Parts: sequence; C-alpha cells; structure tokens
Amino acid sequence: MARYDPNNIFAKILRGELPAHKVYENSDTMVFMDIMPRSDGHMLVIPKTPCRNFLDASPEQLAAVMATAQKMSHIAMRAFDAQGVTVQQFNEAAGGQEVFHLHFHILPRRDGDTVRPPG
Ligand code: IMP
Repeated sequence: MARYDPNNIFAKILRGELPAHKVYENSDTMVFMDIMPRSDGHMLVIPKTPCRNFLDASPEQLAAVMATAQKMSHIAMRAFDAQGVTVQQFNEAAGGQEVFHLHFHILPRRDGDTVRPPG
C-alpha cells in the first residue's frame, strides 16, 4: 500500500489551506459537507491525524472516527429530516477511494430515495 500523502485534499482542509463547510470538530476528528453531495446532508468524517484509509487506521483512530460518525448520523437524521442513514467507506483506488485520507461518508436517507453511485 502506498504511503500517506500529506498533500491530499483533506490534509489541506485540516491545515486550513483549502476551504470546507465544516459542521463539527473535536480534538480527534473533523466533519464537513461533501462538495458533491450524493444525498441531502452528505457529510464526511475524518481523523485529524494522518491515515490513508481503513487498512492503515489505528484502533484509536477508528474508535474516534466511528464515535463521531455515530453522533453525526443522529444529528444528520434530525437536521435533514431523514428516516435512515447510509455509512460508506472506500479503500484504495480499486476499492473506489479517490481521496487518500481516511473518511466515512454519512448519507442521510429518506424512504424510497435513491443515492447516486460515487465517482
Ligand atoms: P472517496 O475517496 O471515493 O470516498 O470520495 C471522496 C469524496 O470526497 C467524494 O464524495 C468527493 O465529492 C469528496 N470531496 C472531494 N474534494 C472535496 C472537498 O474539497 N471538500 C469536500 N468534499 C470533497
């Protein structure tokens, strides 16, 4: 697996070098809106420390990111009047990953909706 690239887009967002619509952060994680939302309220949860993807994550990074993902799923369902939520995550190019900093997609869902596939 390739090494973590500190110049990926999400690393730049973390350093404040690129803008983002930030909706939550704590000491270990940050959450911002996806620039190309696939459902109303589509957001991304990332760790603040370097991590290429799920395969590369420490137990501490996973625990922090999953706790924030669960919190934001509840908030997103209320804020976007959703009846469900899809949590998605992709690893390496072959697995559909486009940005190589660990992130979980939070996709609020409504009964009968369809979500555009990524890419
Ligand atoms: P993945 O790596 O396939 O999970 O997808 C990366 C996700 O990042 C896509 O849903 C993109 O729309 C999203 N994305 C790419 N650049 C930005 C950005 O600058 N801000 C917010 N979301 C972004």
